[in-house]
Formats: sequence, structure tokens, C-alpha cells
Amino acid sequence: MKIIEYSVSKAISKSGMMELDYAINPYSGCFHRCLYCYAIDYTYQKDAASNWGEVIYVKKNIDLVLKRDIIGLPRGIVGLGTITDPYQPAEAIYRLSRKILEILLGNGFRVTVQTKSPLVTRDVDVLSAHRSTADVGITITTINRAKSITIETKTPSPSARIRALEKLNDEGIKTWIFLGPIVRNFNDDNENLRAIFEVAVSTGSRIIYDFYSPYRGANSMMERYLPGYDGRKVFNESNVWKSDLVGRIEKLAEKYNVECNSQKDEWMAERGYNFGKLF
Ligand code: SF4
Repeated sequence: MKIIEYSVSKAISKSGMMELDYAINPYSGCFHRCLYCYAIDYTYQKDAASNWGEVIYVKKNIDLVLKRDIIGLPRGIVGLGTITDPYQPAEAIYRLSRKILEILLGNGFRVTVQTKSPLVTRDVDVLSAHRSTADVGITITTINRAKSITIETKTPSPSARIRALEKLNDEGIKTWIFLGPIVRNFNDDNENLRAIFEVAVSTGSRIIYDFYSPYRGANSMMERYLPGYDGRKVFNESNVWKSDLVGRIEKLAEKYNVECNSQKDEWMAERGYNFGKLF
């Protein structure tokens, strides 16, 4: 793996996601090397995009620039890790996500973190000091480790992620599971969905789910490395499969009494939590 440090002149940007006001990403490129990663298409450093998982760019001065950027910036919800994983292995060395949390939470912003790594539990002291304005989402696409390695090739195991959710929950930090992307005939079976809902119950987490989107870079990785994957079929994915899947997820949410939203509808839930009734 190659790590390249560079300096940025801007740390935080307006988010294009309706549930967020701002986005911040301390790393470009991601060691976890998930085949389905949409960030490949949004990584402008060509060597990182074309050797996905092998080249990581580190915004080494992001914390210093952030302190300047937030002067006079209206407070709002910040997504930490909207493009790449903020707790990928480089974070163990650089501690940029931790510094970002300290700055944003300490200055009245609300921060929502998304990761696949139990490294986030290193920062429970910061998170638990701001329980009302911080939450952590951990992605679990499949409970099955062998399957996870096939598609999320260098990520921590699902069981390590579950332990992280437990730890965060024990510390009173709000957690959610990102159940996604859901890929047809890969992780859409009832057994897997049921197991993930059971994790949500045992860790006090809500669930946000999303379907796989065949971005250009992801589709070419999936075609190359995921046995049996046919990108053309995915492009023509039938709505019948999607509506059947949504129906099964909704039934499980009701059965397990777990709050569950699609990524598409998540903004309404998120805005509702933070600013009261929307309509
Ligand atoms: S952890 Fe997230 S950012 Fe990293 S490769 Fe996987 S999907 Fe992409």
C-alpha cells in the first residue's frame, strides 16, 4: 500500500445529501477495497482510483484548515466519511478523524460517522462526551465472513463490526447499521437479512438500507472479481426484485420492532431527529 500526504486549502464542503449539511473526508482512496465502492468514481487522483485499495491520499493538514473553515459557518449536521472510510487503517496513524470529531463536536456541530472499522471505538471518549450530537453508523452487508471477504476484500470482519456496535451501545452512543449495498443473489436472502435485524436488536441500532448502484468503477471491479456477477443484468434490474425486497425488509422491521429507513428516505428521519417535526 502506498500512502501519499498532501495539503488541502478547504476541509469541509456542503453536502449533496439531503440528510446532511456538510461533508468531510480526511482520506481519499480507501484501503478496505470494497468491490462495490462508488467512491472510485469520485476519486480524482488517478493512481488511487485505478489501483483501488492500494493508494491512499492523506489530507494531512485537514484539522488545521477545519478550524479556520468553521469560523462563522452556520452550525448543522456533518457527515464524517461520506466518500471514504474515515476509520480505515491510516487513521490509526494519522488520527485525523479523531481531531475532526473533537473540533466539530466541540464547536456545536452534529456529526454522523459511517465506517466499517472497530477503530471508531478508540474515540468513544470524544463521542460519549457529545452523545446528543454524535452518532455512528457501521456498515454490515453480510453476516457471513467468507462472503464479506469476497466483496469487501480488506475490511474488518462482520463480527468485529458487531462488537464495535455493542461497545458503542454500551457507552450510550447512538448507532445505526448501514445495510448496503444489497446485491441481488448475494446478500438479499432472508437468512442474512434476519441476522442483521437481530444484530440491530441486540445493539440498539436502527437500520438504513440501500440497493447496489452500478457505478462505472464499481461495476468493473464487480465484473472482474465477483464470481457470477453480470453488470448488464444489474443495469436492467427489475423493480419486481426491489419491491419484493423492500416488502421483506419492512416485515422484518415490524417483526423485530427496529426503526428502518431506505437511504432514499433517510433524510426525513434524520431531519426529524434534529429539528423536530418536518411537516
Ligand atoms: S469502506 Fe467504504 S469507502 Fe472504503 S472501499 Fe469500502 S465502500 Fe469504499
